[in-house]
Amino acid sequence: MEPEEYRQRGKEMVDYICQYLSNVRERRVTPDVQPGYMRAQLPDSAPMDPDSWDNIFGDIEKIIMPGVVHWQSPHMHAYFPALTSWPSLLGDMLADAINCLGFTWASSPACTELEMNVMDWLAKMLGLPDKFLHHHPDSVGGGVLQSTVSESTLVALLAARKNKILEMKVSEPDTDESSLNSRLIAYASDQAHSSVEKAGLISLVKIKFLPVDENFSLRGETLKKAIAEDRKKGLVPVFVCATLGTTGVCAFDNLSELGPVCDAEGLWLHIDAAYAGTAFVCPEFRLFLDGIEYADSFTFNPSKWMMVHFDCTGFWVKDKYKLHQTFSVNPVYLRHANSGAAIDFMHWQIPLSRRFRSLKLWFVLRSFGVKKLQAHVRHVSKFFESLVKSDPLFEIPAKRHLGLVVFRLKGPNWLTEKLLKELSSSGRLFLIPATIHDKFIIRFTVTSHTCDLPQHYLRSVHHKCMRKERRNDISLSLITEN
Ligand SMILES: *Cc1c(COP(=O)(O)O)cnc(C)c1O
Repeated sequence: MEPEEYRQRGKEMVDYICQYLSNVRERRVTPDVQPGYMRAQLPDSAPMDPDSWDNIFGDIEKIIMPGVVHWQSPHMHAYFPALTSWPSLLGDMLADAINCLGFTWASSPACTELEMNVMDWLAKMLGLPDKFLHHHPDSVGGGVLQSTVSESTLVALLAARKNKILEMKVSEPDTDESSLNSRLIAYASDQAHSSVEKAGLISLVKIKFLPVDENFSLRGETLKKAIAEDRKKGLVPVFVCATLGTTGVCAFDNLSELGPVCDAEGLWLHIDAAYAGTAFVCPEFRLFLDGIEYADSFTFNPSKWMMVHFDCTGFWVKDKYKLHQTFSVNPVYLRHANSGAAIDFMHWQIPLSRRFRSLKLWFVLRSFGVKKLQAHVRHVSKFFESLVKSDPLFEIPAKRHLGLVVFRLKGPNWLTEKLLKELSSSGRLFLIPATIHDKFIIRFTVTSHTCDLPQHYLRSVHHKCMRKERRNDISLSLITEN
């Protein structure tokens, strides 16, 4: 492809994307395909000779789109949102063209410096403490963009582990690190995301999943008791992952109780606010951040609710040197004249190379402004909740926070299972289940910002799926949108 063709095809692609996203509500949200559906439509091997762009472009609708789940659809209520937006798309268009691998400051100074500044902006927008800022006289911390919350949590656990092992080595200099590692134990609530368990699997740090209270929140006393028990067994508590906005029901662990326990017992407190973190742009939701001053690290996904498309995960640490001592390797070919004076983000993460992710974040923060992002967050699922609540056939088994409503039909689980199956079979809605205390529930997340008329839309969903049917005859006709 020559530059002139790129100029033309690029414009066509922008038109296609614009058309796709503007009309995505017309498509069924989940595809109607079986595993292997694509096999028959593709040749066995890559073409020897160049194919024409017209052919390639034509195959998007023919081969790709029939197998796509349309995450930007207003009919998408599964998982958590993964929103994109026009300025975000433009940011990555530019980042993809620059395509620098900003592992050190010198490998592309703008990549590192924009990231430092934008991470400070973001920390201030969320009301995070000054210790997480790059540019603050009292801070030795800062923020970095990781690819996922899973990776951030692993990075935090590895840093906590390294730190604790170095502490243990003071009194046991001759003990092998792997045997010190085997005595470590970490904690999270039994509502924590599976990525916490995965971080434990990778790091060989045992993780204990602790019971929650009636609001699905991990409390200080529970943690304290677990720590005491484990110390008695000769284990060394090292790390707590507290969740703000759990995946199941969007519950919040009690930071103001967990924080002092971690502080007194010398544990690294990491906070996973993957989804809910975006809500803290609104001061009225910051009550969940009480106790944040005790945190050693904090992570959330602007790629979920903040309309910066995947991948974009904010990760802040209180002490960047704890990351350096965990991840620093310093080969000659990566040293540069400003090593030491500048930040080299390769020491803050697992891979060496890194994308210029801060561009799309910068574009989004500037194009929307804090006020518009706040308005976006405030548009939550209250209305849907009120519809469910007003119907005696349904119950809401956990308090709604933010944009996630969980609901079920009163009575045995099979009723709700059947309801979900009916709701999903048409492909006009995408919802996923969860369980809480053996109760089968349906999660409904308000996902799309193109869900611009939530009242109208949610009312129609409610009509289709909630009304008229008898408890034992839930035959749901789902013709969405009026
Ligand atoms: C979505 C989510 C994750 C996983 O995020 P990734 O960025 O996909 O790793 C972790 N924790 C919570 C609470 C989540 O909601």
